[in-house]
Amino acid sequence: MRIFGGIFAVLPTVPAGGQERLVLPPQVEDVARAHHWKAFLASLEDGRATRRRRSKVDRGGRHLLACALLSCLGLGVAAAAPGAIADRVFIHGAVYTQDPTQPWVESFAVADGKYLAVGSGAAIRAFIGPETNVVDLKGRMVMPGLVDDHVHAVDGAMGELYDCIFPSTATPAQVRRAIAGCAKRTPKGGWVSGGFWASDFFKRNPIRSPRRWLDGVAEGRPIILRDDTGHNVWANSEALRLAGVDAKKADPGGGRFERDSSGRPDGIALEAAAEKIQAVVSERSEAEYRRSVQHVQEIAHRFGFIGLKEADAATPAIAAYVAADKRGQLSLYVAACISTLAMQVTPDTILDYDKIDNVREAYRSNLVDTNFVKIYLDGVPTEARTAAMLEPYLPDAQGRRVSGDLHVNPDVLEKEVVEFDKRGYTVKMHAAGDRAIREGLDAIAAARRANPDGQLRHELAHAGYIAPPDLNRFAQLNAVAEFSPVIWYPSPIIDAVIAVVGERAKHYWPMRSLLATHAGLAAGSDWPSVVPSMDPWGGIEAMVTRSDPYHHSPKTLWPEEAIGLEDALRIYTLGGAAGLRREAETGSIIVGKSADFIVLNRNLFKIPANQIGNVKVEMTFFQGRKVYQHSTTGEHRPNPQAAPSLSAISPGLTPSTSSTFLRLAAPDATRTLRFAMPRRFATNSISARLAAFSTAGAATRILISPSCSPAISVLEARGCT
Ligand SMILES: [Zn+2]
Repeated sequence: MRIFGGIFAVLPTVPAGGQERLVLPPQVEDVARAHHWKAFLASLEDGRATRRRRSKVDRGGRHLLACALLSCLGLGVAAAAPGAIADRVFIHGAVYTQDPTQPWVESFAVADGKYLAVGSGAAIRAFIGPETNVVDLKGRMVMPGLVDDHVHAVDGAMGELYDCIFPSTATPAQVRRAIAGCAKRTPKGGWVSGGFWASDFFKRNPIRSPRRWLDGVAEGRPIILRDDTGHNVWANSEALRLAGVDAKKADPGGGRFERDSSGRPDGIALEAAAEKIQAVVSERSEAEYRRSVQHVQEIAHRFGFIGLKEADAATPAIAAYVAADKRGQLSLYVAACISTLAMQVTPDTILDYDKIDNVREAYRSNLVDTNFVKIYLDGVPTEARTAAMLEPYLPDAQGRRVSGDLHVNPDVLEKEVVEFDKRGYTVKMHAAGDRAIREGLDAIAAARRANPDGQLRHELAHAGYIAPPDLNRFAQLNAVAEFSPVIWYPSPIIDAVIAVVGERAKHYWPMRSLLATHAGLAAGSDWPSVVPSMDPWGGIEAMVTRSDPYHHSPKTLWPEEAIGLEDALRIYTLGGAAGLRREAETGSIIVGKSADFIVLNRNLFKIPANQIGNVKVEMTFFQGRKVYQHSTTGEHRPNPQAAPSLSAISPGLTPSTSSTFLRLAAPDATRTLRFAMPRRFATNSISARLAAFSTAGAATRILISPSCSPAISVLEARGCT
């Protein structure tokens, strides 16, 4: 490895259409092309567009770009000024860089939150000074931190912290028990909200009136429960009353209230109808949002994420992220797709662009980017049959063959995508059916016609069914196909899809075919809409094996579409960074980029593919700072007998569905207290314990999370199992 100092400075820039454009040596682009990095090159273009708007990144971005591409050429790395000293160096690692000419190195150096040098141990030693912290990786694998390109993280965190949760496999008796417990704990007048019932729950469990069934356990409280797709709700009489939904209430465009024989809504509300009920659920407090953002961050770092895209962000959630960033408490890149759900009244509604601009301008910060917007084109291809398909679904119970409706009329969608593109938004379109995909691509094509220089990579989310003639259009239009690989066959969701779509449902997510066309791909968890966790590792395994990462069955989903581990990791790292419009800043271990990386307990390339899902993140670094450290010290095995009922104990504490422990962490994460919470604990004994913890001097503020992540040290052992 040769170290070049300041070589990036010789790369010229010329004005292009009034804007500065980086001129690259031709061989640089050749190398990138030879490595099938068309999407990468396209993303660099997109990066230029991004940088034009983000002045702060402008100069640095060009610097990084040059460094990255020189590194591609194998010319070595451009370092900071000669003689620079690292804050930290990492040696003796198996470092997977996402740099195609030196995919693996042994060591790297970090200064001021950025990679100072990347290469062999001998080269890196030159950057060690007396103050440098030298970390021996002992052969462990390091790779760029991951990005979740589609997640409803604040919703998920809110759910874990405050909601009534049961698994989608729950039987009616289990649902009844969960709801009854939550209803008892909820103050009078408060909502019981949560989920997630399986899409085919009412098919498997004939319940004559879903509304009255819930009334029987509600204790007078309004109840709203989402299904496992997040699109549809199950509500009781009190919830419908509060939402003003009665026999006279017409179905909204793009949605439907299921009704009994007398025409009275019977508790199931699909798509836009579900939102009518959701809209009256009392809003969470600012404090709850604040706590949820901290919880999101803890979860994200534990799984190795350094960035995420909120796929449908409500304003209070965006505000909470921005506030956390301004307080210096955010260590995560956040792209917030501004929600348009409430504005989209009928398929002909034109969205209020200025109102969306107002949200964008009001809420932005260094780490929170609001140049993103979400539009829902259709629903879901499950029992509800609401995804817009080119071919009809299998006949429903009444023998009808529907194809699903578009939520936005095609001419309206074209206008909207053209306008958002012009205003600099990356548009994420929910498009679950192949007809919705086609309309989404048509709208992107309209944006390209209107603005031929446009480089924003608009996304089609859940791009599962793509009609063969549309496969090539993704690459042609520089559009991104985004998918959720954790939902792999056999899962209740895929089973529910096959039940209504039929055999062709098995031809779902043509990833390999898309890669062959050089289409941009992105992956996200869609947590908590469809999966119980944001954990990406099962998804990465599933992309490689096309089978259930939880190994419940040997079945596979269209195994011909499996992709290689290299591609899967690139999608989750560089692909994710491009999805955040931060590919010039992060996503690979290249000199000049932000030092956002993770250390794993296993080398992904040295274990069987079906074990990738079990890999654990040992450390997560964001901008050169360690933001997560896995530790087994002080860990206790959960006692299944000691099921928590924490809301009953104290309103400030809520139960975890997955853990019998609470973790009490000081904000600086220097100390963590973890103990079991058996039912018999009384409110005042918990309060006393918290008070004792506070006054012990470790923490000025205590974060309470039901996270299962390991404790660092046990300060108080009473109650531990
Ligand atoms: Zn989603």
